[in-house]
Amino acid sequence: MHDPQHPLTTSEQLHAAALDVFPGGVSHNIRYFEPHPIYIARASDSRIWDVDGNEYVDFWMNHMASVLGHAYPDVVEAVTEQARDGLHYGAPNEVALELGRLVRTFVPSAERVRFCASGTEATMYAVRLARAHTDRDRILKAEGGWHGGNTDLSVAIHAPYDQPETAGLPPGVTEQVHAFPVNDPDAVVDLLERYRGEVAAIIVEPMLLAGGGVTATDEFLRTLREECDARGCVLIFDEVVTGFRVSPGSYQARIGVLPDLTTLGKFLGGGLPVGALAGRAELFEPARPDIDVPPVERVIAGGGTFSMNPMTAAAGVASLRVLDDEPVFAYTESRAERVRTELAALFEELNVDSVVLGESSLFLPHFAPEGPLDSVGAVETKTDRDALRAYHVRLLEHGYYFLPGHMGSVSYQTTDAQLDGFLDATRTVVGQLRG
Ligand code: PLP
Repeated sequence: MHDPQHPLTTSEQLHAAALDVFPGGVSHNIRYFEPHPIYIARASDSRIWDVDGNEYVDFWMNHMASVLGHAYPDVVEAVTEQARDGLHYGAPNEVALELGRLVRTFVPSAERVRFCASGTEATMYAVRLARAHTDRDRILKAEGGWHGGNTDLSVAIHAPYDQPETAGLPPGVTEQVHAFPVNDPDAVVDLLERYRGEVAAIIVEPMLLAGGGVTATDEFLRTLREECDARGCVLIFDEVVTGFRVSPGSYQARIGVLPDLTTLGKFLGGGLPVGALAGRAELFEPARPDIDVPPVERVIAGGGTFSMNPMTAAAGVASLRVLDDEPVFAYTESRAERVRTELAALFEELNVDSVVLGESSLFLPHFAPEGPLDSVGAVETKTDRDALRAYHVRLLEHGYYFLPGHMGSVSYQTTDAQLDGFLDATRTVVGQLRG
């Protein structure tokens, strides 16, 4: 019940109003948290401000998409210039071609590229192309793997992994999609043997970010490549998060394992809505409108009003150019490494039982781990998730914005002084939570 002694903040008032508009007051479930979501008024460099005038250092960074930070000058300039020439045409345009060429230049497995408006669409089309190419139906995915709201892959995201993730799935989805624990090659081979000749594709994120920060080992990814080659399955890397984040060529370039199809998003749009599907030209043949494809073999792999949006493309081109010209990886990775190391040392000093996961520019602590956090299942079921959310909610009060329970992301504009402040705030928060 609202205490009349304490007037509601503007965020609280807006959330109360939003409950009559959006289910639960939000348009993305993970943006809901207790006591209430915070309404953001503006964002610039590494900071965001809420509607009540509070300033935060932002570690959520637009679902980890804004690697360069908010309102990066080159990106703002490119988008402003493009806006004068129109927001969208629903027609081919040169700037989108330029972005497509950059994807081909950067991402080693990208012989062809299709743009869409979200990572969700990209994974949906990837699965469809793989099924059409192999004439098989079954898909293997990782436990805890998040590939967007894509119906085809909305299983085995949270434990228990053998239950449907959501109501409303057609029976075919749960019957045809099988999950393996990441870094367990035997489990993958078992599934491939059980469904011999029936598996169309294996889809995996090289780093499972919604899965708490567990990273697939190079060896595991190499095994997936070999198994797919041996069995005629399509290997899909979901690089919506890792794309352009870990190296210009994305995760595949870093480890030298090339998938058949790659899904991209987030950073690629420079902060605007985007998705892309890239891969071997042969796989895209049935999606070509310029050749005769028999109707039963034709694949719709693209179809969005806002695909090839020039605003997104302008932001993407400007962002990729910054990657080319500036030490973005060296900066973000070294600062995140600093956070991972110093956070772990601080928790140890304060006797907080924890493990800090994450790679590249990302970091996430887990509390009270029972045993090694070597699988998504262990992270999810053998750590104190409530403690993590409580830690993040308290940090909000100190001016450090995390989406409670989710990955932190260091941007190119995050400063060392801000990281010092965040580590100090962590010390204070631990004291407060211990009461
Ligand atoms: N794939 C991965 C690995 C993601 O993390 C996400 C979103 O967080 C998606 C796909 C879906 O992308 P979008 O949110 O743009 O639909």
